[in-house]
Amino acid sequence: MDLTLIELMPLGIGTQGEGRFLPLSEVRAALEQRFRLEDLPDRTGGPARYVRVAETGGRLGFITPLSQHFCASCNRVRVTCTGRLFTCLGQEGGAELRPPLRASESDDPLLAAIDSAIARKPAGHGFIDRQGFTTPLLARHMSTTGG
Ligand code: SF4
Repeated sequence: MDLTLIELMPLGIGTQGEGRFLPLSEVRAALEQRFRLEDLPDRTGGPARYVRVAETGGRLGFITPLSQHFCASCNRVRVTCTGRLFTCLGQEGGAELRPPLRASESDDPLLAAIDSAIARKPAGHGFIDRQGFTTPLLARHMSTTGG
């Protein structure tokens, strides 16, 4: 049996502070009191990191967007239906693609805008660094852009 758990998904709004989620490092430590967990190199195209549970042969995946976020390997950007390119679900940065799209018959302005935005892609979200998380972190909900 394969299991994947996930700690609180940082949706970017509302109250999502430390103490409001259980870090999976603690879950893993608790499991290791009873089971041998062997790190696996498996990747499934998603953010889970896998271990083999030696006693059962099962594979267990941990998704840790808060305690050990996976932004360093993130290669994703999103384009909304209004032509706004967001370079991170957890940040506001990006580019408006309509102006360069309309500026020329050539694709060059559009490609330049995309290249520029990608070059400014943040190293990661700031959810865990912000104290308290008691105020909305982003004006837009994650579902606005699609997670
Ligand atoms: S928070 Fe941003 S950088 Fe991190 S995985 Fe999500 S989109 Fe990528």
